[in-house]
Amino acid sequence: MTETPPPPTGSDTPASDVGPLTDLIRRQIRATGPLSVPEFMTLALQHPEHGYYRRQQAIGAAGDFVTAPEISQVFGELLGLWLVQRWIDLGQPGRVSLVELGPGRGTLMADALRAASAMPGFLPAVDLVLVETNPTLQALQAERLAAYNPRWVEALGAIEPEHPTLVLGNEFLDVLPTAQFAVVQGAWLERLVSVGEDGALSFVLGQPQTPVLPLLPPPTDGLFTELMPSLPGFFKDLSALLRPHGGAALFIDYGPAESAHGDSFQAVRNHRPVDPLTMPGAADLTAHVDFAAFATAATGGGATAHGPISQRAFLTVLGLPTRADRLAAGNPDQAAAVAAAQHRLIDPAEMGILFKVLAITSPGLATPAGFADPASAPAHNQRRPNP
Ligand code: SAH
Repeated sequence: MTETPPPPTGSDTPASDVGPLTDLIRRQIRATGPLSVPEFMTLALQHPEHGYYRRQQAIGAAGDFVTAPEISQVFGELLGLWLVQRWIDLGQPGRVSLVELGPGRGTLMADALRAASAMPGFLPAVDLVLVETNPTLQALQAERLAAYNPRWVEALGAIEPEHPTLVLGNEFLDVLPTAQFAVVQGAWLERLVSVGEDGALSFVLGQPQTPVLPLLPPPTDGLFTELMPSLPGFFKDLSALLRPHGGAALFIDYGPAESAHGDSFQAVRNHRPVDPLTMPGAADLTAHVDFAAFATAATGGGATAHGPISQRAFLTVLGLPTRADRLAAGNPDQAAAVAAAQHRLIDPAEMGILFKVLAITSPGLATPAGFADPASAPAHNQRRPNP
């Protein structure tokens, strides 16, 4: 996911590797008509047997993409200190639910909790809840995080708000299915996945199926836009979790700060961009996160949204350069690798600017460091309507 894909290229994956889900999708389209992009993404990523996030070991050098916590331990450590600060802001409650969405290989949480253990009282307070659909990754998380006694749920909505709650999601929002729409002759049409005579899947435009039409801007010819239909439900679940006892959430992902129009639906396999339709179940599918829409949805749920700010600004405020210097001084033979990892995380040409950080806090909680005071921040709800 840190790769910036050029236009999709052909695939070098043998047909046998991509067969079962493509067959199933073809049959479904022939029986009931074209699929919306969210329907296609949901099948490709979450199909119980063949879905990408149900079976693939996606993350890391041997997988399909590399994420920030896999680049440097400092990333998770700084996030751990961020969590400790929010716990202090909450009044150091004796119990706190710590929820991670899509914890991957468990690296981020392991680094975060190791750093956070320096704060007396924090670890004993933590009730660790991991939201993960991939059994292979669940097993890895169980191994890495056994010392913290985690429990797993399949969705945010399955968590009971028992305590003040802290939520973390790195590269999680981009896996939420996105719908795509284009204006043709003054009307919105939806981009759908159909099947040709030759059995190949292809995009077509058809009558809108995803029920978000009232949320689209006025149809101006040539406009193309994306909307995540699960956003309202996701934020309903998030605010239901944060409201009763207070709490904060932190999301890090890639996408523009302002709502942008255009096609960001993409597929990555073996660190290379591929056509999103040619290997459902075998490639990671994502779309850019519309942070303005997220901030609007969070604000609508009664919470305060802070940011988004760039990953570069966020990690710098948290002290990445100082922490990296200290790590390099303690491990001189690793100094070049530490510097390279730091560069990758915050250089504007690498992840520094494309990746954004959005914080959400329950009413009354202090503004986290590095974020502008909400009173002086731009009013997200004045942007184009979004779910
Ligand atoms: N946060 C990790 C992994 C990011 S990849 C990191 O930074 O390295 C996305 C993660 O979300 C994976 O762990 C994937 O299995 C999980 N995932 C994907 N769809 C999900 C869903 N609908 N619910 C819960 N987890 C999901």
